[in-house]
Amino acid sequence: MEMKKKYRCFALFSGGLDSMLAARLMQDLGYEVIPVFFRTPFFEPDQARQAAAHIGFKLLVIDISAEHLQMLGNPRYGFGKNFNPCIDCHALMFHRAGEMMPEYAVDFLISGEVVGQRPMSQRPDALNAVGKLSGYKDLLIRPLSQKLLPDTLPIREGWVDKEKMLAIQGRGRSRQMEMARTWGITSYRHPGGGCLLTDVVFSRKLRDLIKYGQLNLQQVELLKYGRHFRLSAGVKLIVGRHEQDNDNLQALAEGLVVLQTPALPGPLAVMNTSEIPPTALLQMAAGLLLRYNNKIIGKVQVNYGIWPHTDNILSAEALSSDEVEEYRI
Ligand code: SF4
Repeated sequence: MEMKKKYRCFALFSGGLDSMLAARLMQDLGYEVIPVFFRTPFFEPDQARQAAAHIGFKLLVIDISAEHLQMLGNPRYGFGKNFNPCIDCHALMFHRAGEMMPEYAVDFLISGEVVGQRPMSQRPDALNAVGKLSGYKDLLIRPLSQKLLPDTLPIREGWVDKEKMLAIQGRGRSRQMEMARTWGITSYRHPGGGCLLTDVVFSRKLRDLIKYGQLNLQQVELLKYGRHFRLSAGVKLIVGRHEQDNDNLQALAEGLVVLQTPALPGPLAVMNTSEIPPTALLQMAAGLLLRYNNKIIGKVQVNYGIWPHTDNILSAEALSSDEVEEYRI
């Protein structure tokens, strides 16, 4: 007797409820599902790992930081409400998943996308754009909405029975909640959460980096900590808010200019440059740093240099609150 082939699919897996349901549904229908999380500097995999484990899967994590950053400089379909290029981002993830198919002997790709659920990336025309841009349009299945979407190769070939797919659409979540209850899924991330590109404050800082042509991995990592100030077209200053910030900034500061006040413990400041800037700019940076050290009265010594060597010394006074606001990003 001929054995029926067990088809295998990659599931784009963010750790949100829809991605959990899509993976679980396909597994229940007899497919071998490999959930994949595409890591970028803006979205960490920890929660997705927990979500995958919660429904009995081991998550595959693939880093796409370099390609994602390149796309972010000029996404074909632009940005959502903040700095989230969701259409291009989904397309990039499907593209990478598609490229990995031969290596994992995968037959097609799925995601938890739901028609009409997100204003930017899940309108029917947006789902179509994602498919086209990914280069793998004919291999995509969106199990939660596939009954409402054009048939793709897995359906035409009979690998996937369209009747077993769902027809969920819109922003309501009642059907998804019901499915979660049925499968005992009790913990999941809120829709849209987890990505820094949807955060208003982070997006503002990122926009500044792009405006001044400074978008690279090190600069993006620095955006995650401290208070950010633009001192000139080429130079930014980042001042730690607390000890944890200071530690994280130090860890990223290799080769960059750092200012600190070892005699008067307080915040650390990192400049996003590896060249000691002119004195006027250094004075401004020192004044900003001192503004956030409440042990300072009058003029004090500030150490500076290329981290970890901060042996140079200058003397400075704290800037006023108004002056500080002028530079804040
Ligand atoms: S929310 Fe972030 S990770 Fe998700 S598709 Fe949009 S840009 Fe990509």
